[in-house]
Amino acid sequence: MKHTPTYDLECQDLAKNFGSFRAVKGVSFDIPSGSFFSILGPSGCGKTTLMRMIAGFEDPSGGDIRIKGKSVLGTPPNKRNVKMVFQHLALFPMMNVYENIAYGLRCNGVSSAEIKRKVHDVLERIALPDVAEREIHQLSGGQKQRIAIARCMVLDPDVLLLDEPLGALDLKLREAMKIELKLLQHQFNTTFIYITHDQSEALVMSDNVAIMNQGEFEQIGTPQELYHHPKTAFVAGFVGDSNRWSGTVTSSDGTGGQVETDQGLPMTFSAAGGTKINEGSKVDIFVRPEFIHAIRANGANKSSADGDNRLSGVVDSLLFNGANSRVLVRAQGGELVEADVTLTGNNDIKPGEDVELVWSSRQAMCFAQNGGA
Ligand code: ATP
Repeated sequence: MKHTPTYDLECQDLAKNFGSFRAVKGVSFDIPSGSFFSILGPSGCGKTTLMRMIAGFEDPSGGDIRIKGKSVLGTPPNKRNVKMVFQHLALFPMMNVYENIAYGLRCNGVSSAEIKRKVHDVLERIALPDVAEREIHQLSGGQKQRIAIARCMVLDPDVLLLDEPLGALDLKLREAMKIELKLLQHQFNTTFIYITHDQSEALVMSDNVAIMNQGEFEQIGTPQELYHHPKTAFVAGFVGDSNRWSGTVTSSDGTGGQVETDQGLPMTFSAAGGTKINEGSKVDIFVRPEFIHAIRANGANKSSADGDNRLSGVVDSLLFNGANSRVLVRAQGGELVEADVTLTGNNDIKPGEDVELVWSSRQAMCFAQNGGA
């Protein structure tokens, strides 16, 4: 029997205008039940507005929102089975942990015995069984995050919305909480929708990510699809690190060919995003640092590096970062090019050395500018 996916949330042509300004321009997407979905985009692209429409705090100017298959247009926030965790968490400082979690259940008229059972159950599930009597100010930052999630999850929402909840945490705690949130989502098996402008958060935690730009979705895909097969130049530039060159196509068979960059450098490319790229097109080329080999210009292994693109340059600086260290090379044409290297402390390339940068056209993602071919 064919398995048909079920969706906790379906949005169809969802739009929001503030006067003549179109903050969300008709986005459509479905989120399979029990998955972790992120909306990733730069500040001001419309993420919060989209989230507020799903939660019911903002009326759409057009389109439909369906939760568990039923339209919620016109349904007030407290009647939608959706809960939201905000960046500032909004825990009640005058109540202890137990009362914070119990609050929503009390508002719903749940009996004291049932509240007790549910609060203790949710505290077990977030692995904080012993903090019920603590005051909020006695919790660590990470514990407060988990209590804010528990306070929503105890109400058994169909969808949990998270609006940059890690934004206020220091870097180390953010890193730990990324993994924690992913584990919590698995534990509850509830759909989480997470909005962020931090790509590392979205890529690490999500089953699927929507890349949002100026009120529209540029692409929806798994983190791997977005990283390795971006459909637009915006996605290629926004997800992961890339070297970027603009140029003009000098020869093309439609799917690959030659480009001369604006600095006069020749490069080969393969067309990304399934578009056909014709001779004479203005294009942007993206090459990720991990696909560029930086080798000593006079080194013994020079000819063994695989790639049909070669560029000479001089090492400007080395950025040590454990396994993924990086070299910045001042290439012919004057630009800085980034390549990933392994720095062992033993016979590493050094600033001032001549190097050759080598990469394959298969790794050079090329997009026609202005969407044209
Ligand atoms: P950030 O990451 O900075 O929170 P965002 O992607 O969440 O940004 P939104 O807060 O959704 O972006 O805002 C999208 C656009 O809509 C912005 O240009 C913003 O100024 C505008 N906007 C949001 N709310 C209103 C409002 N109530 N009235 C007018 N314009 C608004």
